[in-house]
Amino acid sequence: MQKAFMVVMFAILFFSLSCSPTKQATTMVSQSPYGILPDGRTVTQFTLWNAKGASATLITYGATVTSLVMPDRNGKYADIVLGYDSLGGYIADNAYFGAIVGRYGNRIGKGKFTLDGKSYQLTVNNGENHLHGGTLGFHKVLWEAKVLNDSTEPSVAFTYASKAGDEGYPANVVVTVTYMLTDQNELVVEYAGTTDAPTILNPTHHSYFNLTGDFTKTILDHQLTIDAEGYTPVDAGLITTGKIEDVAGTPMDFRTAKVIGERIDDETEQLRFGKGYDHNWVIRGSHGTVRRAAELYDPSTGRLLTVLTDQPGLQFYSGNFLDGSTGGKGVNYQFRTGLCLEAQCFPDSPNKPQFPSVVLRPGETYQQKTVYHFSTR
Ligand code: BGC
Repeated sequence: MQKAFMVVMFAILFFSLSCSPTKQATTMVSQSPYGILPDGRTVTQFTLWNAKGASATLITYGATVTSLVMPDRNGKYADIVLGYDSLGGYIADNAYFGAIVGRYGNRIGKGKFTLDGKSYQLTVNNGENHLHGGTLGFHKVLWEAKVLNDSTEPSVAFTYASKAGDEGYPANVVVTVTYMLTDQNELVVEYAGTTDAPTILNPTHHSYFNLTGDFTKTILDHQLTIDAEGYTPVDAGLITTGKIEDVAGTPMDFRTAKVIGERIDDETEQLRFGKGYDHNWVIRGSHGTVRRAAELYDPSTGRLLTVLTDQPGLQFYSGNFLDGSTGGKGVNYQFRTGLCLEAQCFPDSPNKPQFPSVVLRPGETYQQKTVYHFSTR
């Protein structure tokens, strides 16, 4: 009888051990001070590790990804995002390396828009236009951070409360961006935003990828696929014209994998305006449903990045404004040594009623999920 009881107890113990989570998310997140801002506040750094040995390092300044370490086809790990060596680099940065940008990712023509009959003037910080949330946008502020202990995957949530009037935007807005690194080598970026009055919100993530892991090389040999039949052409100031044009027969056609360098210097007006690729593609499928938007492949290392998002648009920016004047990680970042794939609503949507709406009202929650999935081929 006693023996039978012992057997049952062992069985229960074994069952409960095998059912309990074997992963401790908290032990896969390390935290340390990163630097001190001029006003005395401390910037904290978090590193997320997954079971495969990949890692993502984040800082509370700008909710920025400072490094992302992924394997190549031979299992060799390397950092594949551009970044600086210390906080000073991020404070001085004007290329938005690795940051969350907002409130509005991308441009708003002349920084003006009208909402519910009221006109607003945002900071003008890019020629005569508003770009990436203005001078003190989400990329230049200190976010609150919280390690999510109840998550089975290593995750950190960053929260920022933006005040009414910041950079000219109406309403008090609270945004939370959660980064999670899964064992499938996915960096999952989830956004949630609320407001106390009608406003606009369209944040995005601004990592510069170079899948070779060697930042002395350009991204021109990378092969890119974008799941889009159309893109939104721009004027000389990179403001969308309001049209959606067919990619067929143009250098904008990435419906099947194309070597980025193949047509980047074609003599077309659009490529001249962008100094290369700096355009928004209209992603196939529905806004609100996470689906593949793009695939980026580096034949030299076999690294493959698949971008999935629930956003209607994807900005592909080929690093055309990098000019060697800034550096980190042992190199100066030259022309086209990194590229961004920014999930978003379309540029200048507040002034283009035919584009998807970026309006957020009290009681609603802005949501975005974008996944950067790394594998090899
Ligand atoms: C924009 C570029 C801009 C760059 C700033 C990109 O998202 O599309 O036009 O120059 O950000 O680094």
